[in-house]
This record gives sequence, structure tokens and C-alpha cells, in this order.
Amino acid sequence: MKITKVEVFRLQADPAFAHNRPIGCRIFTDAGIVGHGEAGIAYRVGGSGAFGALCDLSRMIIGKDPMDIEMIWETFRKTTFWAMSPGALMYAAMSAIDIALWDIKGKYFNVPVYMLLGGKFRTKLRAYASQLQGGWGNIYEGKENIWCKTPEDYATNARIAVDEGYDALKYDFFDRDVDGKPLPFYATTGIIPNAEIDRIERNIKAVRDEVGYGVDIIMENHSRTDALGALQLAQLAEKYRMMAFEEPNPPTIATLEYIAQHTNVPLANGERIFSRWGYADYFKRNLIQLAQPDVANTGGITETKKICDMAHAFDVGIQVHVAGSPLVTNVALQIEACIPNFIIHEHHVCNRMSNAIGLTIYNDQPVNGYFEIDDRVGIGNEWDPEAIANKAVLYKVIE
Ligand code: MG
Repeated sequence: MKITKVEVFRLQADPAFAHNRPIGCRIFTDAGIVGHGEAGIAYRVGGSGAFGALCDLSRMIIGKDPMDIEMIWETFRKTTFWAMSPGALMYAAMSAIDIALWDIKGKYFNVPVYMLLGGKFRTKLRAYASQLQGGWGNIYEGKENIWCKTPEDYATNARIAVDEGYDALKYDFFDRDVDGKPLPFYATTGIIPNAEIDRIERNIKAVRDEVGYGVDIIMENHSRTDALGALQLAQLAEKYRMMAFEEPNPPTIATLEYIAQHTNVPLANGERIFSRWGYADYFKRNLIQLAQPDVANTGGITETKKICDMAHAFDVGIQVHVAGSPLVTNVALQIEACIPNFIIHEHHVCNRMSNAIGLTIYNDQPVNGYFEIDDRVGIGNEWDPEAIANKAVLYKVIE
């Protein structure tokens, strides 16, 4: 089998979400099998670079056998100069191709990818409702998302998710002001004023009082605070028995070591750590308890599975991170279905919003807080041809 053509595109489902435009590819073969992949730089800044890198890498695989996934991956790493040191844009582009190659392999053998990675370890995957500070909107019912302002808002969103069957929730508790407006970066670094700590605590307490201790809460921080502020927040995470404290600060070994030495709350991290080489020192120093490799920017299925296995050797649990379209949700589920150290799947509110609708054949949602493992071949999802034809803001064919 030979690769004959690669289509690279950037899609926009809804003009109101110009900051969230997934980058995808389709790899065509002379056997008629088509593989679907995604580069996980859908939102914020850098997508143009990932799109360009994906076009560049696509030129390297024309005429190659798509079954030789490991050889293609290592060729990217060793011969492109920049991929020798892992980083977001190159590794997102590598991920898109890697995911599409696994999709081809699954379709060739007529099995889901998880069958090729070790087989089904479980039949259901626990999911948490993520980013509840932005509502738990359901665009299908015509409801708009609203940002939390008051403790009551935080509690209300928790109730909506719990009533849907979720028993785990995630919030950013320190990214918005009392009007629901984003806090500037300089307001979230350094030592956090006591008045702010009190405001954050009122919001946390409202959620905990609403759902009790039978529901797990993850405190997300998106690396906003530095180590000093992170420790202040960690004290609240401990007090309210959080399941994990995610990205307490921009990940570096030295600062995370300082945080880990001063808190007992499990630390979640990894959406900004790339490849097994990036993760190795964090695991060796026990700085992560819940690892979150992003399958579409850490190196694809090939690399994420290796990171998960390396994590297992250090008693580290896994939530495979997704920063893209519903296509990548299915990719994450392939890996989470087969690894022994899976903890929980993040179901982001974006998966329920207009920016995620109409791009892919499927937009799977958990039922009663759980994903069922399906038997679809390959990665279990595909880009919608109508979306590629009508919703592409960037499009290129390499052959
Ligand atoms: Mg995160």
C-alpha cells in the first residue's frame, strides 16, 4: 500500500468561534483506504504554523507505505531538524499524520484502533464535565453559555452536570472576575491577595455544598499562576478534597518540584508537555499524578501510548487530553479503552457547542457520565466531507 495524496485543511464550524478552528488531514492510499487525522492546535495562537508544518510533513510521506507508522514517526523526529526537540507545532503536525496512519491501519484490518494497541481493558469510560465556569451549555436546545459570576452560578452549573449523571466536574476557579470577565495575566501571577482567595473559596464552597463529597472536583488552573499563587490555590484544593489540581503553573521541573514538595493534592499536568522525552523527568521525580498527554499535539497515538505506558511504571494515572474537534475525542477514547492506568476522560463543554457541530460524522456524548466503547473501525470517527468542502478557511492538497 502506498500513500498517494494528503489533504490538509482548517475548518470553522461557526464564525462566532473564530478562535477555535480545528486543523485536519485526510491521507489517501492506492488501496482506496482514507485515514483521518487532526493537529491539536485548534484554538488560540499557532494554528497557522501547525497547518504549515502539517503540509511540510505531508510532502515527506507521499509514496510511503502507511503501515510503517513507527518508521515514519522516527523519520520525522530525526530528519526535520526541529522535531529533535519536542514542541507544540511540529508535534501537532506529526500527531495529525500519525493519527491518520493508525486510522488507515485499523480500517485495513477492519478493527478499532484499540484492538491493535492491546485490546479492550474496559467497556465504559468515566467522564467528567469540564470547564463548568463557562456553563454546561447545550447548543442543541438553543441555550447559550454564560460565564459564572456568583457562587450561585458555579453551583447551578454543577447541578446541571450532576443531574445529567456526571459524578466528576472540573472548573477554572481563578480565571474570571465578579462580572465574568477574563482576569488579565498580571492579576493571576505573584502572591494572590487574600480578598481574591476568599472570593475563590466562596465559589469552590458553593460547588462543594451543592454536590457534596460524593462528586469529584478537579481544579483547573491552565498554568495561570506561578508557583507562589499555585500553592495558595493548592491549599483550597486540599481543604475541599479535590480529585486533582491541574496545571498549577507553567510546567517546568524546578517550579513543579517546589509545588509538589508543599502540597498533598494530586497534580494533573501534561497538555503542554510533549513526547516521552518531555515527560520522562516529570515521572522520574513524581511531579505528576494524573498525566494528560494531548494525543493530537504530543506525537499522536504512537507517542501517547508510550507516554501512558511510561506513566504506568511510576503509578501515574491517565486522562488523554483533547484540544480539538470531536474527531480527537474518539482518538482519545481508543487509547483510554485499552490502557490499565486510565483514570478519567475529560468531556469539554466545547463538545456541546456550535463550534463542534457538523465537522465530523460523529459527535459522541457520554451517557450518565460514561462513554461506551464502540466497535467502529479505525479511530471511530471521520471528518464530514461536507465540512471540508464548505467550512475550510485553509485548504491544501499535497500529492
Ligand atoms: Mg487543562
